[in-house]
Amino acid sequence: MSFLDYAPAPESRSVVTIESSYGLFIDGEFGPGKATFKTINPADEQTLAEVALAGSEDVDRAVAAARRAFPAWSGLPGAERAKYLFRIARIIQERSRELAVLESLDNGKPIKESRDVDLPLVAAHFFYYAGWADKLEYAGFGPAPRPLGVAGQVIPWNFPLLMLAWKIAPALATGNTVVLKPAETTPLSALFFADVCRQAELPAGVVNIVTGAGDTGRYLVEHPDVNKVAFTGSTDVGRQIARAVAGTGKRLTLELGGKAANIVFDDAAIDQAVEGIVNGIFFNQGHVCCAGSRLLVQESIAEELLDSLKRRMATLRVGDPLDKNTDVGAINSAAQLARITELTEAGDAEGAERWSPPCELPGQGFWFAPTIFTGVTQAHRIAREEIFGPVLSVLTFRTPAEAIEKANNTPYGLSAGIWSEKGSRILAVADKLRAGVVWANTFNKFDPTSPFGGFKESGYGREGGRHGLEAYLV
Ligand code: NAD
Repeated sequence: MSFLDYAPAPESRSVVTIESSYGLFIDGEFGPGKATFKTINPADEQTLAEVALAGSEDVDRAVAAARRAFPAWSGLPGAERAKYLFRIARIIQERSRELAVLESLDNGKPIKESRDVDLPLVAAHFFYYAGWADKLEYAGFGPAPRPLGVAGQVIPWNFPLLMLAWKIAPALATGNTVVLKPAETTPLSALFFADVCRQAELPAGVVNIVTGAGDTGRYLVEHPDVNKVAFTGSTDVGRQIARAVAGTGKRLTLELGGKAANIVFDDAAIDQAVEGIVNGIFFNQGHVCCAGSRLLVQESIAEELLDSLKRRMATLRVGDPLDKNTDVGAINSAAQLARITELTEAGDAEGAERWSPPCELPGQGFWFAPTIFTGVTQAHRIAREEIFGPVLSVLTFRTPAEAIEKANNTPYGLSAGIWSEKGSRILAVADKLRAGVVWANTFNKFDPTSPFGGFKESGYGREGGRHGLEAYLV
């Protein structure tokens, strides 16, 4: 250990109480499901808790509870619904330390991210949509917009509580009731949220949480008494859901995968761009749908930029998610680690050059060193498929037109980044990128007031902002 090394600075696990087992949250009560499954800490593979698995009858009960709660909830004046949402937001703030530790334990993300990014954004989402609840007539969707009814919501594991907030806050603000299914590897913060709903005295049945894997999600989205399906997850599952929902009259929004280009022009401030690249791909272990996973760098500065990037990557601290100094935590599951490994091996086999800084990975748990591939061509799998891990594919370009063409050469269209000192260039390039969000001289910036969503295989519909209300209103 040199004098520049960091001493361990672990957040205490005892901040949060984890029960040994959790039930389904239906009609304001926790109760058993048809079976149970375990959720583990991906940093050490130890079981955190046993969780109920919802079968089709449990999903029926949850949807029925949401249906029963709908008339009274949707009949409340918006200002009354807002009070509940404000209360939930405040309780989340008060209990954010517990929630941040829980999220890091179940997901593997560094505590500094769950504490400083996820939790503040979760509370901000509830505050933001609380503010809309009594102003829906002025939101631009007609003079008397109405809720749709029961929303069935299915979310992934990369931002468990934040994706829950993106789904539940606008649904409740607009007067819908909800059945939400968290991902099978990260159910705990959603179950904690159920307790927050009880603490906020939210009427029973307005929010129901059913835990389980793909089958539970399928029962929910295919349930005939669900009026609206909101899904965030992989493009494959999104396709299946679109097929199942087609012709049923259900409303559907899909937030799917991405393969974003982060474009660095030769006039960019290199140090800032390097920070943005690192944030773009190594934030949350790269388990980010809008991650800047393809770096497009102008050829004339490629060498200089890559040297700086490698120097910066060598300072990333990989390890214990609960350590306050950790930059890159654990990969969420063995399955995701296997997928990252498979795709990176395809990168080697197809002739790209792999580089990782020297870093010692813990023996237990699921880990992957921050990695870049150079010499990547557009045909390589690592340039086309979503890796959803801490792996950056580097391509070069010579002219802005080439950068735009390469950036758009993807089946996805969720996000993009542009680094340049020239405002006119940023605007001209942004205009031609087929991406739902384009960041300029920054990356991975989120705000509840700003709509988020994709083009092409990244899905349809927008979440966040005024636009996010539309998905829940007739
Ligand atoms: P996934 O599609 O496997 O799972 C997502 C959720 O869907 C989970 O809760 C899962 O249990 C459920 N599910 C699985 N099969 C289902 C089925 N047939 N019917 C209904 N539900 C089903 O994806 P994942 O591995 O959990 O998440 C990673 C993916 O999510 C990535 O591709 C990523 O890009 C995407 N994602 C997108 C956004 C966005 O906003 N666009 C945000 C986060 C993650």
